[in-house]
Amino acid sequence: MENNSLYFNPEYECLSREEIEKLQLERLQATVRHCMNSPFYKKRFEEMNLKPEDIKTLADVRKLPFTTKQDLRDTYPFGIASVPLRQCVRLHSSSGTTGNPTVILHTKKDLDEWANQVARNLWMVGLRPDDVFQNSSGYGMFTGGLGFQYGAEKLGMLTVPAAAGNSLRQIKFITDFGTTALHAVPSYVTRLYEVMQANGVDPRKDTKLKVLAIGAEPHSEEQRQRIENMLGVKAYNSFGMSEMCGPGVGFECKEQNGLHFWEDYYIVEIVNPDTLEPVPDGEIGELVLTTLCREAMPLLRYRTRDLTRVLGRTCPCGRNHVRLDRMRGRSDDMIVLRGVNIFPIQIEKILMNFPELANNYLITLTTDEDNDNMTVEVELEELFTDDYQRLKDLEKRIKHDLKDEILLTPYVKLVPKGSLPVSEGKAVRVIDKRKVYQ
Ligand code: ADP
Ligand code: ZN
Repeated sequence: MENNSLYFNPEYECLSREEIEKLQLERLQATVRHCMNSPFYKKRFEEMNLKPEDIKTLADVRKLPFTTKQDLRDTYPFGIASVPLRQCVRLHSSSGTTGNPTVILHTKKDLDEWANQVARNLWMVGLRPDDVFQNSSGYGMFTGGLGFQYGAEKLGMLTVPAAAGNSLRQIKFITDFGTTALHAVPSYVTRLYEVMQANGVDPRKDTKLKVLAIGAEPHSEEQRQRIENMLGVKAYNSFGMSEMCGPGVGFECKEQNGLHFWEDYYIVEIVNPDTLEPVPDGEIGELVLTTLCREAMPLLRYRTRDLTRVLGRTCPCGRNHVRLDRMRGRSDDMIVLRGVNIFPIQIEKILMNFPELANNYLITLTTDEDNDNMTVEVELEELFTDDYQRLKDLEKRIKHDLKDEILLTPYVKLVPKGSLPVSEGKAVRVIDKRKVYQ
């Protein structure tokens, strides 16, 4: 039967807060009982003298132990699993941005639920079986490939597994196949646009693109708006994480007022990263997630290290699943320079306000003599090196605005468009060459 609803899973997407919490408690209790099949959690519960029956209310989630990336590394590769290996059908591994990779196992049911989450998100932003979905994300161990593939197929779209890279081929696919929706990391979308421009392709006239899913890396609201203006599309923020399944954990609805995190699948907590106590709604803290439907490798109170805040729990779209602010970045992305804490996204936000600047930038930290310094290299939209005064003036204005935002003045280097490195996966925005004093 054709689904004419605004919702892919109306029975779950439209639950009231009360119903969400009731479902969460049932699922939490079942998850905790299931975790006793994991040698890792069984031992941890014994050490804490905790029993599954101790979880009587939703607030009791706070009695549970935290799980960290280090726990996943210590039990590498299969030590946290709650099912025998023979029940698993897939293994993924996080991209290892911050150290050794970690392994995540999936049963058939896990893959099915994951595809459902992604399909739900894509439906939410208006995609239907008539759409053509191109997935320009890395395939293989990176979950952005297969995760979106299965989700888009589940929704019923013609799905093009273009994978990352080879921009000319991507553009040919977009125009030849009539691609209406595309998924890619934001830094790659801007690259794709530059190649379109260089080859005389006007995305508004020569393509049928209408929706982008962008995510997997931190990006500012300003970057999103640029992408929307460049391509003449709506760009929706997509949050995912291998440990939780992959993409599909949180996604913006058409209101674009934060990411709906699916509370029938996860318990969302925001805690102070130092005290590990909950912070009030609206206050920034570390995102902690407990899986509610995972079979192979449920995780309890997983410390994501991503920093964000609760924006609300209702939405004009009719979904009452919590809305979280776009991620600031991970606590380990934070730059500490001369005692000041800075997130790369703060710098991006300022740079994107200058129409003279293109999208790519690189932050380098160095020690010169005994001083630590920051250099921000940023590409110019067009080359006007003949106008020295204009360049100097632009540099001055950028420095001024950066100082306002990050409280110190970095060196600013304006470089020609296309001269900074571009990665096909997550962008590398910071290079730290500082001397480390022991
Ligand atoms: P790795 O941990 O090796 O980078 P993952 O692919 O599992 O591998 O990455 C998950 C992380 O990517 C998240 O914890 C978060 O830091 C980042 N991330 C994913 N989606 C977004 C998004 N929409 N905005 C900001 N950061 C994101
Ligand atoms: Zn909404």
